[in-house]
Amino acid sequence: MIEHPYQNLRGGRWLVGNLHTHTTASDGERDHQAVIDDYAGRGYGFLAITDHDIYTSLADYEQYDAQGMILVPGNEISANGPHVLHVGSAAWVAPHADRQQVIDEVNELGGGFALFNHPNWHGNFNHCPQELLQACEGYVGLEIYNGVICRLDGSPYATNRWDMLLSAGRRLWGFANDDSHAASGDVGLGWNVAYVEEETASGVVEALRAGRFYASTGVEISQIQVEGNRIWIETENAARIVALRAGAKRIAVADGREIEVEVPERAGYVRFECWGAGEAFAWTQPFFCEEDE
Ligand SMILES: [Zn+2]
Ligand SMILES: [Zn+2]
Repeated sequence: MIEHPYQNLRGGRWLVGNLHTHTTASDGERDHQAVIDDYAGRGYGFLAITDHDIYTSLADYEQYDAQGMILVPGNEISANGPHVLHVGSAAWVAPHADRQQVIDEVNELGGGFALFNHPNWHGNFNHCPQELLQACEGYVGLEIYNGVICRLDGSPYATNRWDMLLSAGRRLWGFANDDSHAASGDVGLGWNVAYVEEETASGVVEALRAGRFYASTGVEISQIQVEGNRIWIETENAARIVALRAGAKRIAVADGREIEVEVPERAGYVRFECWGAGEAFAWTQPFFCEEDE
């Protein structure tokens, strides 16, 4: 049996969004409205402003023109350790040195979720140690792509961290975010395409927490279908699609816009990387493969 987050999608639509953005309230170069205008002008459907240890609430957003976007509350827990993104709750989350306490506080507030940011930042590629990712519970995922790290030391990608956790049996989602700070060049690098049923901040949070999204840097996924133990992925613009199982072992590679795979026994999970032109990717969430008894 295959368990996955793309089942029974109806009554909603796919919206593009970025969950990680800075403004002049912390170390970003532009004010809230300028940042909102930039994302809205690019056709985004939702945006979370997540300044370093400074919370932006739904009430705070009321002073800005959302330009039709759904604005989602949040802050980036930054001081005292590896950065954790808090998205969606109705209150500020303090930067306790104990990151488990941060995650627990997000979950106790309700209405939001926590994820780990840019694990492979810094020259040692170890902003967030794998041991911490393994030890913590109650977070929904991690940034497998963080745009701003493209111009800093380390790697913007962290699918290695994700595969290690998934291979250990964890059920975690992969996010792509800009982490935009600069006035130009930081926006539109990585985003999440979520199937949102209720077009409110809580509806966006619900979709993301359930994993009803894929992460992208430029490839668009048009169909995801599962029948029995077969999975079919179709994209608008992939040149190659790679299917991986637990251990990040490739089980299939297809050149072109689509792929169909039969999930092998004891795969653990299967996920798809869709590679496009230049540095464009799309990453599906994992399809978890339970062995039938
Ligand atoms: Zn950060
Ligand atoms: Zn950040």
